[in-house]
Amino acid sequence: MAQLYFKYGTMNSGKSFEIIKVAHNYEEQGKPVLIFTPVIDTRNGTDKVGTRAGFTRPAIPVYEDTNLYDAVKAQLDESGRYYCVLVDEAQWLNKRHIIELTRIVDELDVPVMAFGLKNDFQNQLFEGSYNLLVYADKIEEIKTICWYCDRKATMVIRFKDGIPVNEGEQIQVGGNEDYKPVCRRCYNEAFKRK
Ligand SMILES: [Zn+2]
Repeated sequence: MAQLYFKYGTMNSGKSFEIIKVAHNYEEQGKPVLIFTPVIDTRNGTDKVGTRAGFTRPAIPVYEDTNLYDAVKAQLDESGRYYCVLVDEAQWLNKRHIIELTRIVDELDVPVMAFGLKNDFQNQLFEGSYNLLVYADKIEEIKTICWYCDRKATMVIRFKDGIPVNEGEQIQVGGNEDYKPVCRRCYNEAFKRK
């Protein structure tokens, strides 16, 4: 039985690297996969999954009005079987996209692995992540350590010109902002010092 997976991690936890690894593992066995990425992330162009280590993979762009179920159904009709659907930066998906992912799993019997951040720099759930937490069959954490200490990072601090900020819009992709993964204690410390 296919399942919907949500694999979440904070910044720099290697989510994109993990997608490329999963895709490679399937393809090595001659099992094709489909990779999607929301277009809000333009760091690598709109049609690639990329890692800081420099690996990239082509990906199908997802727009606000993209129907993921129809997109996967069309690919299946055209090319036969796909063994897995992978989604990068899934926090940027909307609720309708997540429902479409559940239909890919339940009606087309194709497993879906969605990778993304859980909470934003203000510790609010992203829309995609909120709905993945609600709808996913399996939820897994991709762990990384705090930038400042050796605890597990569960949050992210946004820096603007080197100063930690906890106000502003959720979406600032490609701005001058910089993000660091941190533990809860260091997150709170950063704003106490401010
Ligand atoms: Zn820390």
